[in-house]
Amino acid sequence: ARLPADPELDNYPRQVYHACYSRVKPAPADKPRLVAYSSEVAKLIGLDPDECCSALFRDVFVGNTVLDAMEPFAMCYGGHQFGNWAGQLGDGRAINLGEVVTGDGTRWMLQLKGAGLTPYSRRADGLAVLRSSIREFLCSEAMHHLKIPTTRGLSLITTGELVTRDMFYDGHPRKEQGAVVCRVSPSFTRFGNFEIHTARNDIALLKQLVDYTIETDFPHLGPPSVDTYLAWFAEICETTAAMIVDWMRVGFVHGVMNTDNMSILGLTIDYGPYGWLEGYEPDWTPNTTDSYGRRYSYKNQPHIGQWNLAQLANAIYPLIGEVKPLEDILAIYSKRFLAGWNSMMAAKLGLSGFVYRTDDQLLSELLDILQRVETDMTIFFRNLAKIPEHFSGNSGTDPLAPLMDAYYFPDRLDMDYRALITAWLEKYVGRLDRDSLDPVARKAKMNSVNPKYVLRNYLAQMAIDRAEVDDPSMIEELLELLKHPYEEQPSKEKYAVKRPEWARHKPGCSMLSCSS
Ligand code: AMP
Ligand code: MG
Ligand code: MG
Repeated sequence: ARLPADPELDNYPRQVYHACYSRVKPAPADKPRLVAYSSEVAKLIGLDPDECCSALFRDVFVGNTVLDAMEPFAMCYGGHQFGNWAGQLGDGRAINLGEVVTGDGTRWMLQLKGAGLTPYSRRADGLAVLRSSIREFLCSEAMHHLKIPTTRGLSLITTGELVTRDMFYDGHPRKEQGAVVCRVSPSFTRFGNFEIHTARNDIALLKQLVDYTIETDFPHLGPPSVDTYLAWFAEICETTAAMIVDWMRVGFVHGVMNTDNMSILGLTIDYGPYGWLEGYEPDWTPNTTDSYGRRYSYKNQPHIGQWNLAQLANAIYPLIGEVKPLEDILAIYSKRFLAGWNSMMAAKLGLSGFVYRTDDQLLSELLDILQRVETDMTIFFRNLAKIPEHFSGNSGTDPLAPLMDAYYFPDRLDMDYRALITAWLEKYVGRLDRDSLDPVARKAKMNSVNPKYVLRNYLAQMAIDRAEVDDPSMIEELLELLKHPYEEQPSKEKYAVKRPEWARHKPGCSMLSCSS
């Protein structure tokens, strides 16, 4: 028999064994106020957008009213955090209200983030602050419109209560407004949902969850069998690779690619200290917690995706019983990623396809040049479509002119740099000349993958600063703007410019901590 625990020495969060989830009720909020909502997501789940302004909507999606059909629950999961097994984590501040199944059979799980304590809250409060909720809400919608797989954001509601956070400003606790985001996704299941059962050697429960997941979210794979499990794993490898190719395409850095933040549907999930590359710096990470190791930097994302998949492979190994097939599938991830990366880069450059070796060279030269002087990734690629189709180094027109907006210090470009980029552009234009795409089709192709508008770090922060003093108008404005990231929006040019210098080191505008 075990002795009673010593409350001083033996003090750790309670573990929830042999369960995939726990029933839990959202905590009521004092004075809920709707700050923003997505009409599109409302429609997805069969709601008339007008209903979003009702008191009932507000009360349901802040967690004050639980509808009859709802049986709220928090999920149990574990995870590898920054490369180490972290044990049980779970939905510490996420509460699932239940699924909406629409007429065509599509399932949408509704999940409140920040609606109070759950059995998985460990030492934290189960709450979320307005700042991080705005970031989650806006970015999930922005990513969707960038055509990147992601969970969605239905609503953002402040609770009227204050939440204490250690902030990056001066290290002292600060009170911030509490908020609840309702996220919507076919599933919120993470790699860590499987890892936890294997770590506890609860293989029967592992099997039950895998079978349930395949039946519910991967019905096309058929009845449970070793082959089905392998096909399932292969599909997760494919969708994860495709998602990361998309992140790389737009300069998105997730910032916390722990296995508990990896969706089995290959959706971008858990928007925390994410960020967007401004200057093209492959080593950049937005996460201050990771600034030493840079494990989750922009350039490491593809590799970390595979590392995380290897943890998922370990987790499902007991159902397979053989290492080799899992290893073979993991090796396919690299091939899929590379093929995806090549065709994505070909599209960014406006090529009809990627020609191995020669285009490899062209691309790696460009990526090297982009790092020589501070060059805005988004603007550079967008404006590359404006390079004149014909020029020679001594024709009088400056081929660099369309790119000047991308340079953070245009006055400091020296002769060597100019010579280098001009030589590259000549090569590039020569390559375009030999390509089958005509200029109009090329420009259209480039503009459909090189966004004009992204949720620049400082723009999100400006929307936050205003919302914190009771002016939510910029949230609405960015939400609208980012519905059409690939289109020219002449009245919104100010949102397409490079980060202003005042924002370079301003908290929230460049790097963030995990605390949200
Ligand atoms: P994250 O780094 O946001 O993915 O969170 C890692 C783990 O910490 C997850 O299990 C979260 O649910 C939990 N967590 C983060 N913030 C809170 C909070 N304020 N209250 C309770 N749990 C939290
Ligand atoms: Mg998380
Ligand atoms: Mg988080």
